[in-house]
Amino acid sequence: MIKRLCIIGVGLIGGSLARALRESAFVDRIVGAGRNPEHLKKAVELGVIDRYDTDLAEAVKGADMVFVSVPLGAMGTVFASIKDSLGVDAVVTDAGSVKASVVEAVKAATGETPAWFVPGHPIAGTEQSGVEASFPDLYKGRRVILTPTGETGTAAVQKVRAMWEAAGAMVNEMDVDHHDEVLAATSHLPHMLAFALVESLARMSEQREIFEYAAGGFRDFTRIASSDPVMWRDICIANRDALLTVLTTFRGDLDDLAAAIKDRDEGKILSIFQDAKAARDAFDG
Ligand code: NAP
Repeated sequence: MIKRLCIIGVGLIGGSLARALRESAFVDRIVGAGRNPEHLKKAVELGVIDRYDTDLAEAVKGADMVFVSVPLGAMGTVFASIKDSLGVDAVVTDAGSVKASVVEAVKAATGETPAWFVPGHPIAGTEQSGVEASFPDLYKGRRVILTPTGETGTAAVQKVRAMWEAAGAMVNEMDVDHHDEVLAATSHLPHMLAFALVESLARMSEQREIFEYAAGGFRDFTRIASSDPVMWRDICIANRDALLTVLTTFRGDLDDLAAAIKDRDEGKILSIFQDAKAARDAFDG
């Protein structure tokens, strides 16, 4: 049970955690924090948080759990603002989609890898942003990956695990670098493909006609290109090396497919599609 939860960044991810923990009665009071008072007032009106403070150092005072769910590029500033105001028993965790950069940001802000910080990443989301898009079931049955370092306190990890389980999630632990490599392939690469495809089509001269005739396949494949550009810019920069590695592999595979099409190599084309279908069918179980 959390007595006072402070959520810094009450958007889709932070707002959904607040709603889920309220529903499961796992939290007593929730304080929101962020830059824009209008967004935070909206969060109070929606019943997502009890009160707010735009001064992050004030917001975390008295909190036994702090959840940081701001874009990756803002993590360093947030940790520098709160580090001297945390209570002695406070546990801090985050939602950042890349973990090594957040661990580095915390180290740069505090001068150490603190026992009270548990790096985390909920593998759940939508292409929407902001508190209005948040909903209590976002984490039900979804995975949350925690990437504790050698210095992270065991009790802090247990507390964060219990919080996510109360929100309905299944919690796994993973090494920081392994997390960033896996997510580069499974999440970051597909987002790059969707953004690049839609941007490329939008620039083609017949763009109106192209989008008029776009059907379900286009909609399914490109939904994630509506995701927040700032968030995804930050993810690309934060996970640059792992993302470039998978992009290079993928570019090679795309070249192989193009070569098979150019050569009218029906066997090769069929084999690529059959392998892909088998893998995709297995994914759905
Ligand atoms: P969001 O809906 O845009 O919410 C971000 C929140 O951060 C907003 O409430 C914003 O409020 C606040 N914020 C932005 N810059 C800030 C700053 N400099 N200082 C303080 N607050 C700031 O974004 P989100 O989708 O919830 O994503 C939040 C985090 O979760 C990101 O790190 C992202 O990588 C991670 N994540 C996202 C997803 C997803 O699918 N969306 C999934 C997993 C993890 P104000 O503008 O009012 O300050």
